Amino acid sequence: MEVKEILTLMNSPSKEGIDLVTKAFNFAKEAHKDHKRFSGEPYFLHLFETAKNLARLNIDATTIAAGLLHDVVEDAHRGRAEVEKEFGAEILFLIEGVTKLGKLKYHGAERHTESLRKLFVATSQDIRVIIIKLVDRLHNMQTLKYVPENKQRRIAEETLYIYAPLAHRLGMRRLNRELEDIAFSYVFPEDYKKTVKVLKDTVKGAEEKLKKFLNNIKTELAKNGIRNFKTDYRVKGIYSLFQKLGRKEEIKNVHDILAIRVIVPTESDCYKVLGILHGEWQPLPGRIKDFMSFPKPNGYRSLHTTLFTGDTSIVEVQIRTEEMHQEAEFGIAAHLSYKEGYKGKDINPNLLWIMKLLPARPKIFGGKTNEISRKDALTIPQWIQHLGEAQHLDKENEDLIENLKTDFFAHRVFVFTPKGDVIDLPRESSPIDFAYAVHSDIGNHVFAAKVNNKLVSLDTELHNGDIVEIVVKKNSKPSKKWLNIAKTTMAKRHIRNTIGEQSNL
Ligand code: MN
Repeated sequence: MEVKEILTLMNSPSKEGIDLVTKAFNFAKEAHKDHKRFSGEPYFLHLFETAKNLARLNIDATTIAAGLLHDVVEDAHRGRAEVEKEFGAEILFLIEGVTKLGKLKYHGAERHTESLRKLFVATSQDIRVIIIKLVDRLHNMQTLKYVPENKQRRIAEETLYIYAPLAHRLGMRRLNRELEDIAFSYVFPEDYKKTVKVLKDTVKGAEEKLKKFLNNIKTELAKNGIRNFKTDYRVKGIYSLFQKLGRKEEIKNVHDILAIRVIVPTESDCYKVLGILHGEWQPLPGRIKDFMSFPKPNGYRSLHTTLFTGDTSIVEVQIRTEEMHQEAEFGIAAHLSYKEGYKGKDINPNLLWIMKLLPARPKIFGGKTNEISRKDALTIPQWIQHLGEAQHLDKENEDLIENLKTDFFAHRVFVFTPKGDVIDLPRESSPIDFAYAVHSDIGNHVFAAKVNNKLVSLDTELHNGDIVEIVVKKNSKPSKKWLNIAKTTMAKRHIRNTIGEQSNL
């Protein structure tokens, strides 16, 4: 394990960047020197792998350093003050964010996965925190077989239902696929085996033909004066195929198990290539998709078409520029690597919450303001702006847009039941609101409330991530005072009804 291996993966790092990563490398190595993984390997290996995967995303040195250091406070018991003194407030902030996310656990209530995903985003406060956490999780998944079996399933489910979808929404498709495929093998081992077999059988028969077709494409492009291009092909992810088979039932109707990619310098080259391919091979009707003019809500851009190759096979071709390719693989991380900062002009007000997650705000680390004004670096990746405008949406994406539009985080808090179910409430809600949100019977018999294991008064304001426990007593009942405490209409209605009944007696 040499720091050089990380540095060579970084995208032309500055002198300061190299120094910072080297310092973090040495600090973490020393801090974890007596510390082992379940596999018996040195714990530092985990930080080393995390840092390498962050560097592969072309992300900045600060984030890579935070990746190296992300367990020094929690697991190696280095003081916050020491870390702040050595590495500054920004890196400490990222480390603590990652630690906080680690405390949110998925406990298998599927109806709450969406809330938990939102809670992750809300808790992270900075998109870099989520990226570090996702990459951290990737290495933990790669080494999951060493973890005690009774923990494996929970971790794998959490990865499948929370982490992988988050990676997808951030446009980080490669990470999404890697997380999904490993998690899938633990959560649904039988389906996993079956799908791998289907995939192997299909690829085995098709790969040779595909390579031949790829050569024909190269020849055709060259003949038509396209010189500067790259091609390759990819095999569909295992979980993604499993889901598609679930929807489309038959493997012969899935045409993108193998997909060819053509990468050219400019957008107009992309359309040119599409024209050349359609001039030579018959496209499958209804399968021509222009995600360049109409990007997917998670930012994905490309031209897709599906062609009859002439030798009885049907193949999907994806055409894009290098920049689009980077974005398609790395998503939001590709934008964080832009040295000059974010591109873009004006912000869709519905999307200000995403702004709050972007790191271009050195001010907050000076302890000043946490509020984003429109003047405050009007810089946001273009595709995020497009989130609010996209016209062509499938169902899942429609929900996503709806959630974005409601400016969710500005108005909601997410708290837990002692069992780990997420309850989502309006801001400034009290334990009374929580009780009614769980069940009206509980609301109607609140006797006392505990937040994070401490008894609190019933008008206590709840905060993101609080664990709330209600103590009920059979003869406790709502009082008039509760009406002033309750925030939700549901709680108020129940309280009024119950008080009304009492006064009628
Ligand atoms: Mn870790």
